[in-house]
Amino acid sequence: MSDIELDLIAVGAHPDDVEIACGGTLARLTNKGYKVGIVDLTDGEPTPHSPGPDARLAEAQKAAEILGVALRLNLNLPNRRLFDTFEARVALAKVFRRHRPKVVLGFGGKTVLASPDHHQAMLITDAAVFYSRLSKWDEYFDGLHVHTVTNQLSFTIALHGMEMPEASGYFIADIGSTLNVKIEAIRCYASQFPPHKAGIFKAVETMNRYHGLTAGFEAGELFMTYRSVGVDDLMRWAAPQHAKT
Ligand SMILES: [Zn+2]
Repeated sequence: MSDIELDLIAVGAHPDDVEIACGGTLARLTNKGYKVGIVDLTDGEPTPHSPGPDARLAEAQKAAEILGVALRLNLNLPNRRLFDTFEARVALAKVFRRHRPKVVLGFGGKTVLASPDHHQAMLITDAAVFYSRLSKWDEYFDGLHVHTVTNQLSFTIALHGMEMPEASGYFIADIGSTLNVKIEAIRCYASQFPPHKAGIFKAVETMNRYHGLTAGFEAGELFMTYRSVGVDDLMRWAAPQHAKT
């Protein structure tokens, strides 16, 4: 495995989670030259309409190319039986120690009426960020050095409700210029979204246009922060058009 150092890693339970939640933001960051990685904890299979894991993996690689990510890994933990275990935490923490992301994006809260793997992925991600920085424990991590993640943010895949998990606040990342790239990446998953499920594309777009509207953008993705958002220049945040340069 390449030891490339990454600026940001987004963690999903299944290939397509990250695209749906924050594909537009990842595309914007890679456009700006940031090195971005995606970790899928499971292969997501079986699913009702998919030919199998190989097809799903090929879809995930194509989507990763469209988003311009530098690295996509699959930890091959068991789909549908994903649990927050010590082994799963260590497996993900090893990825963080090896690739040293400054920011980690992962699931927040429960996703009732959807796969319980999403909630387990949140627990595993939270623990792995912590395990990544614990000293005097290198024997569990193949001797990889400790790494402190600077910040962790969460996303939801909440197309059916507005309930948000506990967090200090929310913010919207502008994806006006990459909404189309995001939808194209989600469309890679033909096995997951055959014609009778094509409504997902409009649903995701509607959600992103609504989130963007609330922040004055053409489209946006919502993230939760567990740390208070601080401002350097209050005018720049409150009235950017009137801020001094
Ligand atoms: Zn999923």
